Amino acid sequence: MIIKTVELETVCGITSKLPENTKPEFAFAGKSNVGKSSLINALMNRKSFARTSSQPGKTQTINFYNINDALYYVDLPGYGYAKVSQEVKAKWGKMIENYLHKSPMLRCVFLLIDIRHEPSENDKTMYDWIVYNGYQPVIIATKLDKIKRSQVQKSVKILRQGLGLGSDVMVIPFSAETKQGREEIWEMISETVNS
Ligand code: GDP
Repeated sequence: MIIKTVELETVCGITSKLPENTKPEFAFAGKSNVGKSSLINALMNRKSFARTSSQPGKTQTINFYNINDALYYVDLPGYGYAKVSQEVKAKWGKMIENYLHKSPMLRCVFLLIDIRHEPSENDKTMYDWIVYNGYQPVIIATKLDKIKRSQVQKSVKILRQGLGLGSDVMVIPFSAETKQGREEIWEMISETVNS
């Protein structure tokens, strides 16, 4: 995909009304520190446009990036950050649930899981929410460069088992360091936009 323009168009807080976008939306969900900003930056061909986690868990917003005036990347708040109160965690959950429930232009939800770790309870809950709201999640196994090539298949298998994925669910290993997996994600997005 050729990235011509990128604009952070809308930032929604807990009380904000969601934008009534007319272009397809692609959402990114994942645990805090999983590599979500790095992935979104890579998919925008930018080094540090999306927030990075110098202060993980601090930002409770949903960010809408307008890409080429053709589609949106939607950066959902990272969940599972240990050092926030139950109240704040509940707010995040509500924001994400509300977005999944009320977004007619949402076409695909990418769920990011660190390739080195077994999915957590939060990851499973997120996966269930996505499915419950009628979306087929695409799993992105992040930080691919952190494991040996010989371990990739095994790690993907553990991830699949941990989330109880059917064979129809796509898992795309990705590295923000090498950009491996980026073309595949772009292709998926382009196909969905054009279908
Ligand atoms: P976020 O909290 O999910 O947005 O995570 P970030 O994108 O800020 O990444 C968290 C940390 O993991 C940062 O130190 C990144 O540099 C690092 N990181 C993210 N993706 C990768 C990757 O693919 N490979 C490696 N080696 N490090 C990564």
